[in-house]
Amino acid sequence: SPLARQPQVEAIVDLDAIAHNVGILRTHAGSADVLVVVKADAYNHGAYEVAKTALAAGATAIGVTTVAEAVALREAGIGAPILCWLNTPDADFAAAVRADIEIGVASTEHLRAVAAAARAVGEAATVSVKVDTGLNRNGASPHEYPHLLDELVTLARQGTVRLRAIFSHLAVADEPHNPTNDLQRDRFIEAVDAAKARGLTPELVHLANSAATLTRPDLHFDLVRPGIAVYGLTPVPDIGDFGLIPAMTVRARVALVKEVAAGEGVSYGHEWTAERDTTVALLPIGYADGLPRALGGKFEVLLGGARRPSIGRVCMDQVVVDLGPDAGGVAAGDEAVLFGSGKNGEPTAQDWATTLGTIHYEVVTGIRGRVVRNYV
Ligand code: PLP
Repeated sequence: SPLARQPQVEAIVDLDAIAHNVGILRTHAGSADVLVVVKADAYNHGAYEVAKTALAAGATAIGVTTVAEAVALREAGIGAPILCWLNTPDADFAAAVRADIEIGVASTEHLRAVAAAARAVGEAATVSVKVDTGLNRNGASPHEYPHLLDELVTLARQGTVRLRAIFSHLAVADEPHNPTNDLQRDRFIEAVDAAKARGLTPELVHLANSAATLTRPDLHFDLVRPGIAVYGLTPVPDIGDFGLIPAMTVRARVALVKEVAAGEGVSYGHEWTAERDTTVALLPIGYADGLPRALGGKFEVLLGGARRPSIGRVCMDQVVVDLGPDAGGVAAGDEAVLFGSGKNGEPTAQDWATTLGTIHYEVVTGIRGRVVRNYV
């Protein structure tokens, strides 16, 4: 039966939306190339599928966090350049060298570990230097950077490593007018100049994330590194959506429709009490699946052609929504949309983020548990 074939709870990823969003980013990038960031399993959208779709749509490179993520994509058949940028010094850099992965290095210690792996494999390692220009998180500090460059000069001369790029990451790109963006740009240019002064010639220099790709052309350099916008989520909600289409839709199918009499409490703690006789629907999704408990009673779903309020606490596996006295024709098996693109009137990941006081990045990466991912 159709009921048996469809998952109870599903995250549908619209790959056409991914391709569309990459197109928008390419337009904004102008002459800069587009590296799509597919770390954390493509912000939970599926790294392989997103990488493949984005490359077909004109992206030229892939970015992830770890060697393991990078090697997995290479083994899955992604042939484009893949950069990874955050690893402990004991990471499996030999596997990265064998798989022709570009390794981001942020310290002399990292660079030496990569060089040792290159010697062991018997091939040059491709490295990109990550320089800290003000985020004060990953990246070589102003103290470390000259030492890293000096070591790189030695290793490049020996043919142990090849310098692909110098890159950095912005702290407040979601505030396009914040002067810290200008400061980071100036420091970045100085950092690139310091490398060139030592005779190092990076093939590429890059700085921009999604927000800077869309709002700060002066920060594009040779390549931009959008993540969140690839998934259709605007990095600067106050400014606009840039025509991006959110790619992830989360939906759950109604498990049970039932009557609740006036005066009865619903769900743990009875935080919601029926003021009149009503009908409720039970959705088989809970906080174990990434529906935050903090959203209890504070979100709506699109069900039976209308927005329906959630009532009472979100439980581990289930949540209740109020259908009103006439049930609105809703029956077990019907689909409720928890969030999606918004184009059919459903809530969005941004709506959840606003209610929760967080960012949509956390909403989409938080979907987990029994949620089955499918593609359209
Ligand atoms: N570049 C680097 C180094 C990152 O760590 C990230 C993710 O935080 C990105 C680019 C993409 O950022 P965003 O998702 O804001 O576009």
